[in-house]
Amino acid sequence: MFCKRFAIGLIALIFVSCSEVPFTGRKQLKYIPNSTMVQMGQANYASFLKENPAVNPPTRASAEVNAVGLRISEAVEKYLKDNGLSNKIEGYKWEFNVVDSKDINAWCMPGGKVVVYTGILPFTKDDDGLAVVMGHEIAHAIADHGNERMSQQLAIQAAGVGLDVYMQQKPQQTRDIFMSAFGVGSQLGTLAYSRQHELEADKLGLVFMAMAGYSPDRAITFWQEMSKAGGDKPPEILSTHPNDENRIAQIKAFLPEANKYFISHNASSGKKVNSNTVNPDQLKVVASPSPKSLGVKIK
Ligand SMILES: [Zn+2]
Repeated sequence: MFCKRFAIGLIALIFVSCSEVPFTGRKQLKYIPNSTMVQMGQANYASFLKENPAVNPPTRASAEVNAVGLRISEAVEKYLKDNGLSNKIEGYKWEFNVVDSKDINAWCMPGGKVVVYTGILPFTKDDDGLAVVMGHEIAHAIADHGNERMSQQLAIQAAGVGLDVYMQQKPQQTRDIFMSAFGVGSQLGTLAYSRQHELEADKLGLVFMAMAGYSPDRAITFWQEMSKAGGDKPPEILSTHPNDENRIAQIKAFLPEANKYFISHNASSGKKVNSNTVNPDQLKVVASPSPKSLGVKIK
């Protein structure tokens, strides 16, 4: 009903999609085709890296970011494929880059374009810590949160003109809205994700990292340290990913569910097993739980 009303009201727009977030089943309203979002992700990622080059030659940290990112992306792809949702990542070409900056931040644009700033590495510390951040950012992209946020902004800006006309005539403004929707600084600053988007990305991110073989328990210490790092100048990531006091409690409550997907610890030795060497039968079990089991309910 909600979606129908909006769809009629915005009939001048080029595209209206009332779809469900994968896994959680939440209804979401998007005005921008995913293919357009992926194209904008590719273009804006390239121009961002032109202005903020990735560390080169590769460092140990950038190799770790790449390795963790690849493992998470493989787990996400397998999960989406097994649940008939591969269209969610159509056109994705994953890239994971580290950019030298004191900003404590990371983000993922549509198309699987990830940046991790060196400023966050003292907090991520290890592969599990990196997986907390990268799983969370990738979850925002897979759940199309950026499309929702951009749609809301564009609906205001383009009112009376039509979205397609606005985007053609105002490429710079469109780019600014895109960048702010993904937590990358622009002339508009950055937009904070809503509590609903944050909780959704926390839960999906925990599942994604667990499926890739990283311990979801690590999320507790990571977000605790982020909170403590507040002070006069809170970490950049907290301005776009608000860390309300309930976050850690909600993550703790969800850990038993997330840990069901975490199978790659060797029970006898406590050593991690590379996901590539996990018994395929075990992966099958991991890849086929019901998407509905991850329902996010927020008042
Ligand atoms: Zn977030």
